[in-house]
Amino acid sequence: MSGAVVGFTGGTLDRADALRHDPDALAAAMRDPAARMLDLSPDGTPAVANGRLGWSAIPPIGPGTGSNSGDLALLGLDDGTPRFVALAGSGEGVPFRSPALMAALAALRDGEAAIYAAARSLIQWHGRNGFCANCGHATAPFRAGWGRACPQCRAEHFPRVDPVVIMLAEHDGRVLLGRQPSWPAGRYSALAGFLEPGESIEEAVAREVAEETGVRIIDVRYVASQPWPFPHAQLMIACIGRAQDDAITLDEHELEDAIWVPRADVADALANEGGAFVPPPPYAIARTLLERWVGL
Ligand SMILES: [Zn+2]
Repeated sequence: MSGAVVGFTGGTLDRADALRHDPDALAAAMRDPAARMLDLSPDGTPAVANGRLGWSAIPPIGPGTGSNSGDLALLGLDDGTPRFVALAGSGEGVPFRSPALMAALAALRDGEAAIYAAARSLIQWHGRNGFCANCGHATAPFRAGWGRACPQCRAEHFPRVDPVVIMLAEHDGRVLLGRQPSWPAGRYSALAGFLEPGESIEEAVAREVAEETGVRIIDVRYVASQPWPFPHAQLMIACIGRAQDDAITLDEHELEDAIWVPRADVADALANEGGAFVPPPPYAIARTLLERWVGL
């Protein structure tokens, strides 16, 4: 098993839940000269130097400044120092990974990407939840950016996480990998799909594999999970299951191709970034799944 940190995990900020519930302490945290705000470009790309995220001083907040405390979300405390992110002008509504963003993610150290993922998911959620899902009235941030409240019907809304299952089916020393047409040339990866209401993780894994490839799997086991902030806020739940047979019936609406890859070829692809297929990037849990399956 790999000791490597799963991408977008290992964040070290104290989420400081008590501060979210204490408006006076939160206001003091925003005025703290040591407080910092995450540097993000207008399209949401982080500034990365030496594998670390960039941070700036917080601009003046309050009457006459053009900004208010609701414009910032509290990411947490770094050794007691407050860390915030601006909720507007930080890439909200930008759903996909640009080449610049992918390069930044690849350069971030373990743990730093976890802070970015939390910030991005929060920003995206605020950007899409300006109006109450209950009554349609405009909502406003509360709890230091970890919720939105409706002044009309008093409903409180909290950031959502969408569970996604991602899995390898194994059969006779090989794993089943798929390819979507939009992916880079040669890329193959684990199959994946959204968990639906009324399903267990194991059932969703079996359904997705059967839908996309016709392969029936049993003995689903959990391996690891990962926050995935694209396009918004997913939780990738990585599993491995045992295929009952290896006949593939491709769903061409979902996949361009699906192949069985022997263990040695997976190991070679991971080691050489090529060979039988181009593996997923290191920050993707599909990569972790493959590494653990081959025993790296
Ligand atoms: Zn409402």
